[in-house]
Amino acid sequence: SIEMQGLHKRFGRNTVALDGVDLVIEAGEFFTLLGPSGCGKTTLLRILAGLEEADAGRLAIGGRDVTEVPPHQRSVNTVFQSYALFPHLSVRENLAFGLKMRGMPPEQREARVAKIAEFIQLGDLVERRVDQLSGGQRQRIALARALVNEPDVLLLDEPLSALDAGLRSQLQVELLRVQKRLGMTFVFVTHDQDEAMVMSDRIAVLNGGVIQQVGPPREVYEHPANAFVARFMGHDN
Ligand code: ATP
Repeated sequence: SIEMQGLHKRFGRNTVALDGVDLVIEAGEFFTLLGPSGCGKTTLLRILAGLEEADAGRLAIGGRDVTEVPPHQRSVNTVFQSYALFPHLSVRENLAFGLKMRGMPPEQREARVAKIAEFIQLGDLVERRVDQLSGGQRQRIALARALVNEPDVLLLDEPLSALDAGLRSQLQVELLRVQKRLGMTFVFVTHDQDEAMVMSDRIAVLNGGVIQQVGPPREVYEHPANAFVARFMGHDN
């Protein structure tokens, strides 16, 4: 599980990005952070990843306090909105890159890459250069590259927001399938309540750096805790 206690984060003097976040995300959950632009979703994700340090509070992953643990030692991987792939390398080289950096021997690397390529059904995309792929294909490769490390926790920051509606719903299904099959913990960021409704085991609705409500999406939709949640979940009248 991921346990957050009293997380605070401020930028400069006046911007409070997180104002005391207490949250427990269970192992194996598809958990979504949902809220409007600027509510602190990305900041929270970056703190989980270790890319940003909280000003106050505690963070434990898998029962271990990681407040002082650097990103690469957290068994946490991140898929960002910008894919951050190497455009001039092949998909296979992109997938193997991180494993190589970690000193994994070639045969083992190849086996890992083959496994994930089969799992995500990459087919002959594996030999293509990234700069010859479409946006949707790149997004699948970015996901594959995160999965190839077999992290316990995968953080996804609006990974589908740049895609058109058709591709988006296709990848929603694929993401869910992968998460359930691998039994990984997914922490998913979106500002789209419909996406949150279909994907999530539970959601946390954020506003102004404060969690407004946590629960299964249907429960949050049917029993909003306050007027903000009601409005944000689409109760317009
Ligand atoms: P979006 O959906 O637009 O990505 P978000 O919910 O992810 O928004 P954050 O990116 O976490 O929101 O930002 C929370 C607040 O902190 C915002 O007011 C933002 O302007 C501010 N902020 C975030 N990163 C920085 C930074 N590096 N320097 C200064 N202010 C920042």
